[in-house]
Amino acid sequence: MNLAQKATVIAITNQKGGTGKTTTCENLGIGLAMEGKKVCVVDVDPQSSLTISMGWPRPDELDVTLSDLMKKVLEDKPIQPGEGILHHAEGVDLIPSSIELAGMEVSLVNAMSREKVLKQALDGVKRSYDFILLDCTPSLGMLTINALAAADSALIPVQAQYLPAKGLEQLLQTINRVRRQINPRLRIEGILMTMTDSRTNYGKEIDTLIRQAYGGKIKVFEQGIPRSVRAAETSAEGKSIFAHDPKGKVAEAYRALTKEVMHNSEKRRKHQLDQLR
Ligand code: ADP
Ligand code: MG
Repeated sequence: MNLAQKATVIAITNQKGGTGKTTTCENLGIGLAMEGKKVCVVDVDPQSSLTISMGWPRPDELDVTLSDLMKKVLEDKPIQPGEGILHHAEGVDLIPSSIELAGMEVSLVNAMSREKVLKQALDGVKRSYDFILLDCTPSLGMLTINALAAADSALIPVQAQYLPAKGLEQLLQTINRVRRQINPRLRIEGILMTMTDSRTNYGKEIDTLIRQAYGGKIKVFEQGIPRSVRAAETSAEGKSIFAHDPKGKVAEAYRALTKEVMHNSEKRRKHQLDQLR
């Protein structure tokens, strides 16, 4: 078995919208690429926010998107090397989505091995990358289950302005269920506090509360992502925060997050290799 050859797949997930999933997928992906890693980001949301924010504003005009690859799995047709993969100027690859992915989610309900269609679609792709990041849709439906079934770990962005209370519990339950029933390898990469505001007491309180409530069982990344209009601006530009505002605090935060993710991944790989000896 050659562990060095297959990508680590990280699902960036939270069923709540607007928690920074897409922004994190793009910037962590490009951050890892800037560190010399081979990275593919995958848009697993029919709303195509990742596809659009990476510079493909009309996803419905693309020839091949994720739903076409998944359709091939359902029809038992081979996926060609490189099929459906777009190349971004900042060194990452993208498998885009279009609204057709919504129809794909519906047709999955009656499919055989319906939870593993995305996993199968990515199987051939995994050999070419160090990291594959999945930008999940804000629901706990079949697409998110497919992402969790395909993933080695889940990275959970949580917006620091609101107490996630029930929502986060529900997500953790879903992750546990997928681990028990479909994908025993699935780990939690960590909770990422996003849109933090250390200047207000409320922002600080939520950060403290989450670390107290979950920090014992689940990793909470040291590095949170501060709120800044600079981050919001990038979605319209097709560029990462590193290209848009390289010296700003959000770029700095995503750089530190990238280092944390790489460090954890190297630690785990070393541990796995030690166990094989
Ligand atoms: P999700 O994918 O979870 O729905 P997004 O990444 O699309 O979340 O972010 C939701 C909105 O917040 C977007 O308009 C995005 O540009 C903006 N945003 C993301 N990160 C930040 C940040 N650190 N500071 C300010 N705005 C942000
Ligand atoms: Mg999104």
